[in-house]
Amino acid sequence: MTATSKTRDFAEITFYEGADILTLDSRQPLIRNGTIAVAGDRILAVGSSADLAFHGVASRRVDWSGRVVMPGLVDGHSHLFQSLGRTLGDGLSLLPWLEKFMLPLAAHVRPEDAVAIIRLAALNSLLNGTTSIIDNHYAPVDAETVVALATEMAATGVRGVVARGIFGPMVEGGRRMNCDPRLFRYSSQEEIEIMRDCLAAHPTGGLVEIWPMPENIVYLDPELIVACSDLARKHDIGWQAHCSESRFEVEIFESIHGMRPAIWMEREGVLSDRASFAHGIWYDDAEVEVLGQARANVVHNPICNQYLASGIIRLGPLLEAGANVTLGSDGTAVGGLSIFEAMKAGLLLQRIRELDPLATSAELMLELATRRGGRLLRRDIGQLRAGALADFVALDMTGLAHQPATRLATSVVMAGLPPVRDVVVNGDLVVREGRSTKVDQEKVLADALQATASLIDRAGLSTLAKDWVVPRYSVG
Ligand SMILES: [Zn+2]
Repeated sequence: MTATSKTRDFAEITFYEGADILTLDSRQPLIRNGTIAVAGDRILAVGSSADLAFHGVASRRVDWSGRVVMPGLVDGHSHLFQSLGRTLGDGLSLLPWLEKFMLPLAAHVRPEDAVAIIRLAALNSLLNGTTSIIDNHYAPVDAETVVALATEMAATGVRGVVARGIFGPMVEGGRRMNCDPRLFRYSSQEEIEIMRDCLAAHPTGGLVEIWPMPENIVYLDPELIVACSDLARKHDIGWQAHCSESRFEVEIFESIHGMRPAIWMEREGVLSDRASFAHGIWYDDAEVEVLGQARANVVHNPICNQYLASGIIRLGPLLEAGANVTLGSDGTAVGGLSIFEAMKAGLLLQRIRELDPLATSAELMLELATRRGGRLLRRDIGQLRAGALADFVALDMTGLAHQPATRLATSVVMAGLPPVRDVVVNGDLVVREGRSTKVDQEKVLADALQATASLIDRAGLSTLAKDWVVPRYSVG
Protein backbone atom coordinates (compact mmCIF):
# COMPACT_ATOMS: atom_id res chain seq x y z
CA MET A 1 0.00 0.00 0.00
CA THR A 2 1.35 3.43 -0.88
CA ALA A 3 1.81 6.58 1.17
CA THR A 4 -0.91 8.22 -0.96
CA SER A 5 -3.51 5.64 -0.12
CA LYS A 6 -2.83 5.81 3.60
CA THR A 7 -3.85 9.44 3.67
CA ARG A 8 -6.99 8.94 1.56
CA ASP A 9 -10.42 8.69 3.09
CA PHE A 10 -11.36 5.01 2.93
CA ALA A 11 -15.00 5.80 3.62
CA GLU A 12 -15.21 7.18 0.05
CA ILE A 13 -16.31 4.67 -2.59
CA THR A 14 -16.53 5.87 -6.18
CA PHE A 15 -18.64 4.10 -8.79
CA TYR A 16 -17.63 4.58 -12.45
CA GLU A 17 -20.84 3.48 -14.14
CA GLY A 18 -22.28 2.52 -17.50
CA ALA A 19 -19.15 1.70 -19.53
CA ASP A 20 -18.21 -1.31 -21.64
CA ILE A 21 -15.27 -2.80 -19.74
CA LEU A 22 -12.39 -4.78 -21.23
CA THR A 23 -11.23 -6.36 -17.98
CA LEU A 24 -8.24 -8.40 -19.24
CA ASP A 25 -9.54 -11.02 -16.80
CA SER A 26 -10.14 -14.21 -18.81
CA ARG A 27 -12.99 -15.28 -16.52
CA GLN A 28 -15.07 -12.30 -17.70
CA PRO A 29 -13.16 -10.48 -20.48
CA LEU A 30 -15.88 -8.02 -21.56
CA ILE A 31 -18.65 -6.52 -19.44
CA ARG A 32 -21.27 -4.50 -21.29
CA ASN A 33 -22.80 -1.60 -19.31
CA GLY A 34 -20.52 -2.25 -16.37
CA THR A 35 -19.41 -0.52 -13.21
CA ILE A 36 -16.07 -0.32 -11.43
CA ALA A 37 -16.22 0.47 -7.72
CA VAL A 38 -13.05 2.03 -6.25
CA ALA A 39 -12.11 2.47 -2.60
CA GLY A 40 -8.80 4.15 -1.80
CA ASP A 41 -6.16 2.92 -4.25
CA ARG A 42 -7.88 -0.43 -4.98
CA ILE A 43 -10.72 -1.79 -7.07
CA LEU A 44 -13.50 -2.94 -4.77
CA ALA A 45 -15.66 -4.63 -7.40
CA VAL A 46 -16.17 -4.92 -11.17
CA GLY A 47 -19.40 -6.16 -12.72
CA SER A 48 -22.46 -5.31 -14.73
CA SER A 49 -24.18 -2.18 -13.46
CA ALA A 50 -27.38 -4.16 -12.94
CA ASP A 51 -25.65 -6.89 -10.93
CA LEU A 52 -23.66 -4.81 -8.50
CA ALA A 53 -25.93 -5.14 -5.50
CA PHE A 54 -24.44 -2.50 -3.26
CA HIS A 55 -25.13 0.71 -5.21
CA GLY A 56 -26.26 2.32 -1.99
CA VAL A 57 -22.73 2.34 -0.59
CA ALA A 58 -21.37 4.63 -3.33
CA SER A 59 -20.37 8.01 -1.99
CA ARG A 60 -19.65 9.31 -5.49
CA ARG A 61 -21.07 8.16 -8.82
CA VAL A 62 -19.48 9.04 -12.16
CA ASP A 63 -21.48 8.50 -15.33
CA TRP A 64 -19.27 6.82 -17.95
CA SER A 65 -22.06 5.75 -20.32
CA GLY A 66 -20.72 5.25 -23.82
CA ARG A 67 -17.11 4.94 -22.65
CA VAL A 68 -14.87 1.92 -23.17
CA VAL A 69 -12.86 1.20 -20.03
CA MET A 70 -9.69 -0.89 -19.92
CA PRO A 71 -6.63 -1.27 -17.68
CA GLY A 72 -4.12 1.58 -17.95
CA LEU A 73 -1.31 0.86 -20.39
CA VAL A 74 2.23 0.16 -19.24
CA ASP A 75 5.12 1.75 -21.12
CA GLY A 76 7.88 -0.66 -20.16
CA HIS A 77 10.73 1.40 -21.60
CA SER A 78 10.96 5.11 -22.31
CA HIS A 79 13.32 8.07 -22.12
CA LEU A 80 11.17 11.00 -21.12
CA PHE A 81 14.06 13.50 -21.20
CA GLN A 82 14.69 12.73 -24.89
CA SER A 83 11.55 14.70 -25.74
CA LEU A 84 13.92 17.69 -25.52
CA GLY A 85 15.30 16.58 -28.92
CA ARG A 86 12.07 15.26 -30.41
CA THR A 87 12.23 15.06 -34.27
CA LEU A 88 15.93 16.03 -34.56
CA GLY A 89 17.50 12.57 -35.16
CA ASP A 90 15.13 11.54 -37.94
CA GLY A 91 16.77 9.48 -40.70
CA LEU A 92 19.72 8.17 -38.66
CA SER A 93 20.29 4.52 -37.71
CA LEU A 94 21.21 3.60 -34.13
CA LEU A 95 24.96 4.26 -34.11
CA PRO A 96 24.92 7.71 -35.81
CA TRP A 97 21.67 8.51 -33.96
CA LEU A 98 23.54 8.05 -30.67
CA GLU A 99 26.85 9.52 -31.79
CA LYS A 100 25.72 12.61 -33.72
CA PHE A 101 22.53 13.43 -31.90
CA MET A 102 21.46 11.84 -28.61
CA LEU A 103 24.70 11.50 -26.67
CA PRO A 104 25.86 15.11 -27.40
CA LEU A 105 22.36 16.30 -26.44
CA ALA A 106 22.40 14.23 -23.24
CA ALA A 107 25.78 15.66 -22.26
CA HIS A 108 24.28 19.18 -22.17
CA VAL A 109 21.02 18.52 -20.29
CA ARG A 110 20.83 20.48 -17.01
CA PRO A 111 18.72 19.32 -14.03
CA GLU A 112 16.17 22.08 -14.65
CA ASP A 113 15.79 21.00 -18.32
CA ALA A 114 15.18 17.41 -17.21
CA VAL A 115 12.53 18.51 -14.70
CA ALA A 116 10.74 20.72 -17.25
CA ILE A 117 10.62 17.99 -19.90
CA ILE A 118 9.67 15.10 -17.61
CA ARG A 119 6.55 17.02 -16.60
CA LEU A 120 5.54 17.42 -20.24
CA ALA A 121 6.43 13.90 -21.34
CA ALA A 122 4.81 12.14 -18.36
CA LEU A 123 1.68 14.21 -18.78
CA ASN A 124 1.62 13.47 -22.50
CA SER A 125 1.79 9.75 -21.74
CA LEU A 126 -1.09 9.97 -19.28
CA LEU A 127 -3.22 11.89 -21.78
CA ASN A 128 -2.60 8.99 -24.18
CA GLY A 129 -3.71 6.30 -21.76
CA THR A 130 -0.36 5.23 -20.31
CA THR A 131 -0.67 4.91 -16.55
CA SER A 132 2.77 3.42 -15.79
CA ILE A 133 6.17 4.24 -17.28
CA ILE A 134 9.65 2.84 -16.80
CA ASP A 135 11.67 5.94 -17.62
CA ASN A 136 15.34 5.34 -18.38
CA HIS A 137 16.86 8.66 -17.40
CA TYR A 138 20.55 9.15 -18.14
CA ALA A 139 21.19 12.88 -18.23
CA PRO A 140 22.10 14.10 -15.63
CA VAL A 141 22.19 11.24 -13.11
CA ASP A 142 23.29 12.73 -9.76
CA ALA A 143 21.14 11.52 -6.85
CA GLU A 144 19.49 14.91 -6.32
CA THR A 145 18.26 15.14 -9.92
CA VAL A 146 17.09 11.51 -10.04
CA VAL A 147 15.08 11.87 -6.81
CA ALA A 148 13.62 15.18 -8.06
CA LEU A 149 12.49 13.47 -11.29
CA ALA A 150 10.77 10.65 -9.39
CA THR A 151 8.91 13.30 -7.39
CA GLU A 152 7.96 15.21 -10.56
CA MET A 153 6.66 12.08 -12.27
CA ALA A 154 4.50 11.25 -9.27
CA ALA A 155 3.19 14.84 -9.21
CA THR A 156 1.65 14.37 -12.68
CA GLY A 157 -0.21 11.34 -11.27
CA VAL A 158 1.58 8.66 -13.32
CA ARG A 159 2.87 5.43 -11.76
CA GLY A 160 6.28 4.04 -12.62
CA VAL A 161 10.00 3.92 -12.25
CA VAL A 162 12.92 6.25 -12.85
CA ALA A 163 15.47 3.74 -14.12
CA ARG A 164 18.69 5.61 -13.36
CA GLY A 165 21.12 5.33 -16.28
CA ILE A 166 24.45 3.85 -15.23
CA PHE A 167 27.54 4.03 -17.46
CA GLY A 168 30.50 3.53 -15.08
CA PRO A 169 34.02 3.66 -16.53
CA MET A 170 34.67 3.56 -20.29
CA VAL A 171 35.36 -0.02 -21.41
CA GLU A 172 36.23 -1.68 -24.72
CA GLY A 173 32.58 -2.05 -25.82
CA GLY A 174 31.99 1.69 -25.33
CA ARG A 175 35.08 2.57 -27.36
CA ARG A 176 33.98 0.28 -30.20
CA MET A 177 30.49 1.87 -30.13
CA ASN A 178 32.04 5.38 -30.28
CA CYS A 179 30.15 6.32 -27.10
CA ASP A 180 30.52 9.92 -25.91
CA PRO A 181 33.13 9.75 -23.08
CA ARG A 182 31.39 12.62 -21.22
CA LEU A 183 28.68 10.19 -20.12
CA PHE A 184 31.21 7.83 -18.50
CA ARG A 185 31.99 10.13 -15.60
CA TYR A 186 31.67 7.91 -12.51
CA SER A 187 33.62 4.85 -11.37
CA SER A 188 31.67 1.63 -10.79
CA GLN A 189 31.87 2.19 -7.04
CA GLU A 190 30.56 5.77 -7.36
CA GLU A 191 27.65 4.58 -9.52
CA ILE A 192 26.56 2.08 -6.87
CA GLU A 193 26.99 4.67 -4.10
CA ILE A 194 24.78 7.15 -5.98
CA MET A 195 22.16 4.41 -6.42
CA ARG A 196 22.25 3.72 -2.68
CA ASP A 197 21.80 7.47 -2.00
CA CYS A 198 18.79 7.54 -4.36
CA LEU A 199 17.19 4.53 -2.64
CA ALA A 200 17.81 6.01 0.82
CA ALA A 201 16.28 9.38 -0.16
CA HIS A 202 13.38 7.84 -2.09
CA PRO A 203 12.37 4.50 -0.58
CA THR A 204 10.72 1.84 -2.74
CA GLY A 205 7.00 1.07 -2.62
CA GLY A 206 5.65 4.51 -3.58
CA LEU A 207 3.87 5.53 -6.78
CA VAL A 208 7.24 6.03 -8.53
CA GLU A 209 10.28 3.92 -7.66
CA ILE A 210 13.95 4.26 -8.57
CA TRP A 211 15.71 1.26 -10.16
CA PRO A 212 19.24 0.77 -11.48
CA MET A 213 19.69 0.71 -15.25
CA PRO A 214 23.10 -0.34 -16.49
CA GLU A 215 22.61 1.30 -19.87
CA ASN A 216 23.71 -1.41 -22.23
CA ILE A 217 25.07 -4.92 -21.82
CA VAL A 218 27.62 -4.18 -24.58
CA TYR A 219 29.26 -1.03 -23.29
CA LEU A 220 29.15 -1.49 -19.50
CA ASP A 221 31.82 -2.87 -17.22
CA PRO A 222 30.63 -6.50 -16.68
CA GLU A 223 31.21 -6.28 -12.92
CA LEU A 224 28.98 -3.21 -12.75
CA ILE A 225 26.12 -5.11 -14.43
CA VAL A 226 26.43 -7.85 -11.80
CA ALA A 227 26.52 -5.20 -9.03
CA CYS A 228 23.27 -3.65 -10.36
CA SER A 229 21.59 -7.05 -10.35
CA ASP A 230 22.76 -7.63 -6.75
CA LEU A 231 21.48 -4.20 -5.69
CA ALA A 232 18.06 -4.89 -7.21
CA ARG A 233 17.82 -8.24 -5.39
CA LYS A 234 18.82 -6.64 -2.09
CA HIS A 235 16.19 -3.90 -2.38
CA ASP A 236 13.54 -6.18 -3.90
CA ILE A 237 13.19 -4.04 -7.04
CA GLY A 238 13.72 -4.61 -10.76
CA TRP A 239 16.55 -3.56 -13.02
CA GLN A 240 16.71 -2.90 -16.73
CA ALA A 241 19.31 -2.67 -19.52
CA HIS A 242 19.35 -2.18 -23.28
CA CYS A 243 20.27 -5.46 -24.91
CA SER A 244 20.55 -6.80 -28.48
CA GLU A 245 18.87 -3.85 -30.15
CA SER A 246 21.05 -3.92 -33.24
CA ARG A 247 23.02 -6.72 -34.86
CA PHE A 248 26.35 -4.92 -34.64
CA GLU A 249 26.07 -4.61 -30.82
CA VAL A 250 25.83 -8.39 -30.56
CA GLU A 251 28.83 -8.76 -32.88
CA ILE A 252 30.87 -6.37 -30.74
CA PHE A 253 29.90 -8.21 -27.54
CA GLU A 254 30.72 -11.61 -29.02
CA SER A 255 34.10 -10.45 -30.30
CA ILE A 256 35.03 -9.16 -26.82
CA HIS A 257 33.52 -11.89 -24.59
CA GLY A 258 33.47 -14.91 -26.88
CA MET A 259 29.75 -15.54 -26.33
CA ARG A 260 26.40 -13.84 -26.89
CA PRO A 261 24.95 -11.37 -24.30
CA ALA A 262 22.13 -13.47 -22.80
CA ILE A 263 24.39 -16.53 -22.49
CA TRP A 264 26.97 -14.39 -20.68
CA MET A 265 24.25 -13.08 -18.32
CA GLU A 266 23.00 -16.58 -17.63
CA ARG A 267 26.53 -17.66 -16.65
CA GLU A 268 26.89 -14.63 -14.38
CA GLY A 269 23.60 -15.49 -12.64
CA VAL A 270 21.91 -12.16 -13.37
CA LEU A 271 18.89 -13.47 -15.30
CA SER A 272 15.67 -13.55 -13.27
CA ASP A 273 12.13 -12.17 -13.29
CA ARG A 274 13.42 -8.89 -11.90
CA ALA A 275 15.66 -8.33 -14.96
CA SER A 276 14.28 -6.59 -18.04
CA PHE A 277 15.88 -5.96 -21.40
CA ALA A 278 14.84 -3.23 -23.78
CA HIS A 279 14.52 -4.37 -27.44
CA GLY A 280 15.92 -7.93 -27.38
CA ILE A 281 15.68 -8.28 -31.15
CA TRP A 282 18.74 -10.36 -32.01
CA TYR A 283 18.55 -13.25 -29.53
CA ASP A 284 19.40 -16.63 -31.03
CA ASP A 285 17.64 -19.89 -30.01
CA ALA A 286 19.96 -20.60 -27.07
CA GLU A 287 19.47 -17.06 -25.73
CA VAL A 288 15.69 -17.28 -26.08
CA GLU A 289 15.83 -20.50 -24.08
CA VAL A 290 17.82 -19.08 -21.12
CA LEU A 291 15.72 -15.90 -21.02
CA GLY A 292 12.55 -18.00 -20.95
CA GLN A 293 13.82 -20.36 -18.26
CA ALA A 294 14.69 -17.38 -16.05
CA ARG A 295 11.25 -15.77 -16.69
CA ALA A 296 13.17 -12.61 -17.64
CA ASN A 297 11.34 -9.60 -19.12
CA VAL A 298 11.91 -8.33 -22.66
CA VAL A 299 10.45 -4.94 -23.59
CA HIS A 300 9.44 -4.78 -27.25
CA ASN A 301 9.56 -1.27 -28.76
CA PRO A 302 8.02 -1.77 -32.21
CA ILE A 303 7.78 1.89 -33.25
CA CYS A 304 11.41 2.60 -32.35
CA ASN A 305 12.63 -0.61 -33.98
CA GLN A 306 11.08 0.50 -37.27
CA TYR A 307 12.18 4.14 -36.92
CA LEU A 308 15.85 3.15 -36.47
CA ALA A 309 15.53 0.15 -38.81
CA SER A 310 16.88 -2.16 -36.07
CA GLY A 311 14.90 -5.34 -36.78
CA ILE A 312 11.84 -7.30 -35.59
CA ILE A 313 11.67 -9.16 -32.28
CA ARG A 314 11.04 -12.95 -32.21
CA LEU A 315 7.84 -12.55 -30.23
CA GLY A 316 6.39 -16.05 -30.50
CA PRO A 317 9.57 -17.97 -29.52
CA LEU A 318 10.23 -15.67 -26.55
CA LEU A 319 6.69 -16.09 -25.18
CA GLU A 320 6.74 -19.81 -25.90
CA ALA A 321 10.00 -20.18 -23.95
CA GLY A 322 8.49 -18.41 -20.92
CA ALA A 323 9.90 -14.87 -21.19
CA ASN A 324 7.60 -12.02 -20.17
CA VAL A 325 7.41 -9.79 -23.26
CA THR A 326 5.88 -6.34 -22.70
CA LEU A 327 5.58 -3.17 -24.76
CA GLY A 328 7.51 0.10 -24.66
CA SER A 329 7.58 3.38 -26.57
CA ASP A 330 11.30 4.19 -26.20
CA GLY A 331 10.23 7.85 -26.12
CA THR A 332 9.26 10.54 -28.60
CA ALA A 333 12.76 11.03 -30.03
CA VAL A 334 12.36 7.69 -31.86
CA GLY A 335 8.76 8.32 -32.85
CA GLY A 336 7.33 6.51 -29.83
CA LEU A 337 4.99 7.71 -27.14
CA SER A 338 1.63 6.01 -27.35
CA ILE A 339 1.33 2.38 -26.28
CA PHE A 340 -1.83 2.21 -28.39
CA GLU A 341 0.42 2.83 -31.41
CA ALA A 342 2.88 0.25 -30.10
CA MET A 343 0.12 -2.39 -29.86
CA LYS A 344 -0.93 -1.79 -33.47
CA ALA A 345 2.64 -1.69 -34.78
CA GLY A 346 3.58 -4.81 -32.80
CA LEU A 347 0.61 -6.73 -34.13
CA LEU A 348 1.34 -5.81 -37.75
CA LEU A 349 5.10 -6.42 -37.52
CA GLN A 350 4.71 -10.01 -36.29
CA ARG A 351 2.19 -10.82 -39.00
CA ILE A 352 4.57 -9.66 -41.70
CA ARG A 353 7.59 -11.28 -40.02
CA GLU A 354 5.83 -14.66 -39.95
CA LEU A 355 3.70 -14.06 -43.07
CA ASP A 356 0.83 -15.30 -40.91
CA PRO A 357 -2.24 -13.30 -39.77
CA LEU A 358 -2.53 -15.66 -36.79
CA ALA A 359 0.99 -14.82 -35.57
CA THR A 360 -0.55 -12.36 -33.13
CA SER A 361 -3.90 -10.85 -32.17
CA ALA A 362 -5.41 -7.73 -30.66
CA GLU A 363 -6.03 -9.66 -27.44
CA LEU A 364 -2.37 -10.73 -27.22
CA MET A 365 -1.16 -7.15 -27.72
CA LEU A 366 -3.57 -5.97 -25.00
CA GLU A 367 -2.08 -8.56 -22.62
CA LEU A 368 1.46 -7.40 -23.44
CA ALA A 369 0.50 -3.78 -22.74
CA THR A 370 -1.38 -4.43 -19.49
CA ARG A 371 -1.08 -7.75 -17.62
CA ARG A 372 2.47 -8.50 -18.69
CA GLY A 373 3.36 -4.85 -18.03
CA GLY A 374 2.13 -5.29 -14.47
CA ARG A 375 4.39 -8.32 -14.03
CA LEU A 376 7.33 -6.28 -15.33
CA LEU A 377 6.60 -3.48 -12.86
CA ARG A 378 6.08 -5.99 -10.04
CA ARG A 379 2.75 -4.34 -9.21
CA ASP A 380 -0.81 -5.62 -9.01
CA ILE A 381 -1.97 -3.78 -12.13
CA GLY A 382 -3.03 -4.66 -15.67
CA GLN A 383 -6.32 -6.40 -14.88
CA LEU A 384 -9.64 -4.97 -13.74
CA ARG A 385 -10.72 -7.22 -10.89
CA ALA A 386 -11.56 -6.84 -7.22
CA GLY A 387 -8.48 -6.25 -5.09
CA ALA A 388 -6.18 -4.96 -7.86
CA LEU A 389 -4.72 -1.47 -7.84
CA ALA A 390 -7.13 0.98 -9.51
CA ASP A 391 -5.32 1.98 -12.73
CA PHE A 392 -7.66 2.29 -15.71
CA VAL A 393 -8.58 4.49 -18.64
CA ALA A 394 -11.85 5.48 -20.29
CA LEU A 395 -11.95 5.87 -24.09
CA ASP A 396 -14.57 7.57 -26.21
CA MET A 397 -15.10 5.16 -29.12
CA THR A 398 -18.49 6.61 -30.13
CA GLY A 399 -17.18 8.79 -32.98
CA LEU A 400 -17.47 7.70 -36.59
CA ALA A 401 -13.70 7.16 -36.73
CA HIS A 402 -14.19 4.12 -34.46
CA GLN A 403 -17.66 2.84 -35.35
CA PRO A 404 -18.94 0.23 -35.94
CA ALA A 405 -16.90 -1.36 -33.12
CA THR A 406 -18.25 -4.88 -33.37
CA ARG A 407 -15.10 -6.58 -32.05
CA LEU A 408 -14.10 -4.22 -29.29
CA ALA A 409 -10.57 -5.52 -28.62
CA THR A 410 -9.68 -5.28 -32.32
CA SER A 411 -11.26 -1.82 -32.55
CA VAL A 412 -9.20 -0.52 -29.64
CA VAL A 413 -5.90 -1.97 -30.88
CA MET A 414 -6.32 -1.01 -34.54
CA ALA A 415 -7.54 2.52 -33.74
CA GLY A 416 -3.93 3.70 -33.34
CA LEU A 417 -4.77 6.65 -31.13
CA PRO A 418 -8.24 6.26 -29.63
CA PRO A 419 -9.51 9.34 -27.78
CA VAL A 420 -8.58 8.94 -24.09
CA ARG A 421 -11.07 10.91 -22.03
CA ASP A 422 -10.43 9.94 -18.40
CA VAL A 423 -7.56 8.29 -16.53
CA VAL A 424 -7.53 6.82 -13.02
CA VAL A 425 -4.20 5.92 -11.37
CA ASN A 426 -3.94 4.51 -7.86
CA GLY A 427 -7.63 5.29 -7.39
CA ASP A 428 -7.11 8.94 -8.25
CA LEU A 429 -8.85 10.59 -11.26
CA VAL A 430 -5.75 12.25 -12.74
CA VAL A 431 -7.19 13.10 -16.18
CA ARG A 432 -10.78 14.26 -16.56
CA GLU A 433 -12.29 14.95 -19.99
CA GLY A 434 -8.83 14.97 -21.61
CA ARG A 435 -7.16 17.38 -19.18
CA SER A 436 -4.91 16.90 -16.19
CA THR A 437 -6.44 17.38 -12.76
CA LYS A 438 -2.96 17.53 -11.21
CA VAL A 439 -0.85 20.13 -13.06
CA ASP A 440 -1.24 23.34 -15.09
CA GLN A 441 -0.92 22.03 -18.67
CA GLU A 442 -0.18 25.42 -20.27
CA LYS A 443 2.64 26.17 -17.86
CA VAL A 444 4.09 22.66 -18.29
CA LEU A 445 4.17 23.19 -22.08
CA ALA A 446 5.68 26.69 -21.92
CA ASP A 447 8.46 25.58 -19.55
CA ALA A 448 9.33 22.56 -21.71
CA LEU A 449 9.52 24.62 -24.91
CA GLN A 450 11.85 27.10 -23.25
CA ALA A 451 14.14 24.32 -21.97
CA THR A 452 14.25 22.73 -25.45
CA ALA A 453 15.19 25.93 -27.28
CA SER A 454 18.09 26.76 -24.98
CA LEU A 455 19.40 23.16 -24.93
CA ILE A 456 19.52 22.77 -28.72
CA ASP A 457 21.46 26.00 -28.92
CA ARG A 458 23.87 25.04 -26.11
CA ALA A 459 24.49 21.54 -27.48
CA GLY A 460 25.21 22.93 -30.97
CA LEU A 461 22.48 20.81 -32.55
CA SER A 462 20.60 23.57 -34.38
CA THR A 463 21.85 22.23 -37.75
CA LEU A 464 19.63 19.16 -37.16
CA ALA A 465 16.54 21.41 -37.06
CA LYS A 466 16.00 21.43 -40.82
CA ASP A 467 13.07 23.15 -42.56
CA TRP A 468 12.83 20.49 -45.28
CA VAL A 469 14.93 17.55 -46.41
CA VAL A 470 14.58 16.77 -50.11
CA PRO A 471 13.40 13.15 -50.19
CA ARG A 472 15.11 10.41 -52.15
CA TYR A 473 13.09 9.94 -55.37
CA SER A 474 11.72 13.48 -55.00
CA VAL A 475 9.33 14.69 -57.67
CA GLY A 476 11.61 17.74 -57.83
ZN1 LIG B 1 15.95 2.98 -24.98
